[in-house]
Amino acid sequence: MKKKVGVIGAGIIGLYVASELKKKSFDVTVFEKQSIEKVGKKSCSTLVSKRIFDFIQIDDDLIENTIKRCLIKFKKKEVVLEFNPEHIVINRERFVLRMIKNAEFNIIFESNRTDFSEFDYVIGADGASSFLRHKLNLKNPGYRVGLKVESNVKDSNDTVKTFKTKNGFTWIIPKGNYTEYGVLEKKENIKDEWKKFNKKGSNLSFALVPQGLVLASSDKYAIVGDATGLTKPWSGGGIIWQLYEAKMLIENFPNFKKYNKEVRKFFLWKIIKGRISNKLIHFVGNHFSFLIPSYIKYDNDFPNFFKSLLNSKRKKPSS
Ligand SMILES: Cc1cc2nc3c(=O)[nH]c(=O)nc-3n(C[C@H](O)[C@H](O)[C@H](O)COP(=O)(O)OP(=O)(O)OC[C@H]3O[C@@H](n4cnc5c(N)ncnc54)[C@H](O)[C@@H]3O)c2cc1C
Repeated sequence: MKKKVGVIGAGIIGLYVASELKKKSFDVTVFEKQSIEKVGKKSCSTLVSKRIFDFIQIDDDLIENTIKRCLIKFKKKEVVLEFNPEHIVINRERFVLRMIKNAEFNIIFESNRTDFSEFDYVIGADGASSFLRHKLNLKNPGYRVGLKVESNVKDSNDTVKTFKTKNGFTWIIPKGNYTEYGVLEKKENIKDEWKKFNKKGSNLSFALVPQGLVLASSDKYAIVGDATGLTKPWSGGGIIWQLYEAKMLIENFPNFKKYNKEVRKFFLWKIIKGRISNKLIHFVGNHFSFLIPSYIKYDNDFPNFFKSLLNSKRKKPSS
């Protein structure tokens, strides 16, 4: 008989895990607490590198813009990071609904299920405030808050603009038919930083951005995605790193010990390195900006400091 797997959460990661496990012939059911109308509406800019194509098919009509670079404004200098690989902005709501439409497994919406004893395995892909993480008495990761609005200014530029705040940054993302303004900050500073940024728009939304790496040590339960707190320390972006994490879960399924080990081995040093270099770069950028090249070719998922420096230029190329 097929083994029964319960996946908690129909976000991008839960749906990806469920569809891959279904391909491996497990009997998969996804439990989602939101209604189908609300499930795709989570606050997320959904700016990801083209590495996403290695995991999920993204139809052209879901792509709102292509982003080639990021302009970081330090106090006295602007630095261009040329994204390598390029990024795309996806319409998250329609993307999640498309994944749901294509799903070949059962999804139960508006679920408030807390008892999963009938399942052989349970995967918590239930986001930053994960119910399963609490149930397993695991500690919470750290959090920042991401807040954004949409203005009706059309902008198809290929450059994201960011400005460092106390513990995070503000961003302006051209999304084709509109522009997104947002800020990532610690909870206690978010109001002040948002005021300073002073941007107006509609559809104000916010959500927790977890930070850390928390894994479940159990033979029946595993957590993945925002539930583990695995996001890039410099940007809070979670999708690409979490798809790598989800792939490790699927490849090792149901050996969760091996999954945990592989995730730690692959990501722990990247998290530590990311935190240190993020602090260092912003300190140097604001106080000794002459040391930083103006143009850097940059892998925004798996940066390599030395490779980036080799591919940097003191001045921005003219085109
Ligand atoms: C403002 C903002 C901007 C961001 N921008 C980017 C970006 O540009 N690029 C990027 O890579 N990342 C970005 N992120 C991070 C990214 O959104 C997350 O890392 C990613 O969406 C996590 O996916 P997930 O499937 O793990 O969790 P989620 O998308 O949070 O999905 C979890 C699902 O579980 C459901 N759920 C929760 N509890 C239960 C329960 N008890 N029972 C059943 N269901 C439950 C929730 O309703 C939800 O649908 C951003 C985050 C924020 C807040």
